[in-house]
Amino acid sequence: MSTEKRREDNSAHTGGATAPLLPEVFNPWTGWKYSQRYFEMLDKRKALPVWEKRCKFLRYLHDNQTVILVGEAGSGKSTQIPQFVLEANFLKKHSMVACTQPNRVAAMSVSRRVAEEMDVTIGEEVGYSIPFEDCSSPKTILKYLTECMLLREAMADPLLERYKVIILDEAHERTLDMDVLFGFLKVVLRNRPDLKLVIMSATLEAENFQEWFNGAPLMKVPGRLHPVEIFYTVHPERDYLEAAIRTVVHIHTREPPGGILVFLTGEEEIEDACRKITKEICNLGDQVGPTKVFPLYSSLPPAMQQEIFQPSPAPLNEDGSPGRKIVVSTNIAETSLTIDGIVYVIDPGFSEQYVYNPRIRVDSLLVSPISKASAHQRSGHAGRTQPGKCFRLYTERSFNNDLPQKYPEILRSNLATTVLTLKKLGIDDLVHFFLDPPAPETLMRALEVLHYLGALDDDGNLTKLGEIMSEFPLDPQMSKMLVVSAEFNCSNEILSISAMLSAPNCFVRPKEAKTAADEAKARSPSACHISYKVAVLTTDEDLSWCLENFLDERALKAADDVRQQLVRIMARLNLRLCSPDFNSPDYYVNIRKALLAGYFTQVAHLERTGHYLTMKETQVVHLHPSNCLEHKPEWVIYNEYVLTSRDFIRTVTDIRGEWLIDIAPHYYDLSNFPSCEAERVLRRLYRKREKDKQDTKNRK
Ligand code: ADP
Ligand code: MG
Repeated sequence: MSTEKRREDNSAHTGGATAPLLPEVFNPWTGWKYSQRYFEMLDKRKALPVWEKRCKFLRYLHDNQTVILVGEAGSGKSTQIPQFVLEANFLKKHSMVACTQPNRVAAMSVSRRVAEEMDVTIGEEVGYSIPFEDCSSPKTILKYLTECMLLREAMADPLLERYKVIILDEAHERTLDMDVLFGFLKVVLRNRPDLKLVIMSATLEAENFQEWFNGAPLMKVPGRLHPVEIFYTVHPERDYLEAAIRTVVHIHTREPPGGILVFLTGEEEIEDACRKITKEICNLGDQVGPTKVFPLYSSLPPAMQQEIFQPSPAPLNEDGSPGRKIVVSTNIAETSLTIDGIVYVIDPGFSEQYVYNPRIRVDSLLVSPISKASAHQRSGHAGRTQPGKCFRLYTERSFNNDLPQKYPEILRSNLATTVLTLKKLGIDDLVHFFLDPPAPETLMRALEVLHYLGALDDDGNLTKLGEIMSEFPLDPQMSKMLVVSAEFNCSNEILSISAMLSAPNCFVRPKEAKTAADEAKARSPSACHISYKVAVLTTDEDLSWCLENFLDERALKAADDVRQQLVRIMARLNLRLCSPDFNSPDYYVNIRKALLAGYFTQVAHLERTGHYLTMKETQVVHLHPSNCLEHKPEWVIYNEYVLTSRDFIRTVTDIRGEWLIDIAPHYYDLSNFPSCEAERVLRRLYRKREKDKQDTKNRK
């Protein structure tokens, strides 16, 4: 049966938007008989709080263009609402429902769950689309996608005509892309009266969305699926990491069966906690049941992220203590994700956030207290599949008085990528576009860097180069580097470097073998960026080669996938793929020059005092300990500025001062440069350049 035919069948069956009925024996999407599992899941689904409001919701959606739905975490928004919409026959031929998710893990896991609930194969009727991976087909009628992917689709399809209903999930998270979607969809809705929009939020701060979307009705879904008991500490904890580990051990030794979810802040802390938890539980020996400890953070390779969905381990023997799974995660697990079997949540009350400082143009990763809404979301995870407990590692007083408001990401982010996207979408009035307008200084910085990169002309309009750059799902510096790399005859190598920088980190640096790992990485000639290229060139090698060289095979595989996607984009844009001669003396020089063509705004100069100073912003920075340079070169470009206990620059490559004035003379124009050592060096280089030119002329 063709897809179209099936859809018609379904519409006959359900009989219009307001009187939806579930088909009973045959699956309208596949034409097959429903499996036993479908009916088992259906019974569970019907018990979810949103099911009571099903008819009311569909009526609202029928009568209004936009509906706002507020419901507690676990009430069934992400999984059920899109299915209600599908079954209610809002679709016409060749149109689809889109449901956005705040991150890739959520998009993958929710779509898998929904495919199971609908008794279809993932990637067919229900699919997902995340950066560098599209798991959908021409049959797809419901697509879960990250917010940035919906914006990417809008670049090619400005009215999003393939969709009949768009659902923005987790709107309360106020991610940067969500705020862009708010602005953008407001324009689309005006031009497409047939489009429906559903905004879903887990917190009541949704009232300002109502105002933004011309008084759209707000619907509340009361109730949480299962009760969650909350515990606070009596006194503030001095060391939240130690307290979290102690609580895990306490739960494992004393509480009935059920998985544990611990929220921590970042990769290093999480890996450290996983090791410590495993060790502590191991020390308890046979007194306790077996455990499986899983880390979860965004840069973890996707295959490892999926491991959290494994069941808890079985007891070692029949009458033994129960096994338990323990997931230690960043706030990536806070939204959308349902990890089956979680009964206990440990919430120390912190998360890591990027905060952009436009004055020094630096994004720093800071550990900050979470908002009350986040604390509420976190505790909700304990009650998703059965009654649970949440241990907050702070006092009740602190919860009531100290937790800050949630601060939309747009007010604390670097906006260069966003502005490029908006320009490509044809939006020029950036000031009135946003629900919460960003700081003028941040907008100015974004426009300025895009201008330096050549993506915008003097009037702020998108140039031809800017058009091409916006096609890549990369930050503007990286896309610029990739687009111009053919001029340096090394686009194949730059492609590999970009893929490696966009994928999870592939360099393993085990605590017990840090030096050996650093040595393996440093085998490439004095440049971190180039070591990435070397790594990707050898992905075909076997596992033992990866182990020997301290490379994570799965991360390399992920990088390879990214690379293939980028190759396709380059082919579509007719960008030349050239492979330079390995043995040419200019081989590395050209790669370094191409890197600089993208990242000329991220250069640091070694001062006589022995430390590096960033150009223009003149911030003192240090080379990150993980760098693979053998000496301290006079000039370096860096990929990342990390602020931890000190200001570090990470992934650095040795470059030459002359190249700055060759490749980016408009940026290194000394008429508006702060007075510093680097400025004097550059001045000398410019004078030398003039003199050389004069000499050549005289000789002629
Ligand atoms: P919401 O979006 O309102 O937070 P969801 O639609 O994500 O809620 O999930 C609703 C309920 O469906 C969960 O509380 C849980 O009971 C069940 N559920 C969802 N995903 C899964 C899953 N992967 N495994 C087991 N149960 C799940
Ligand atoms: Mg959800």
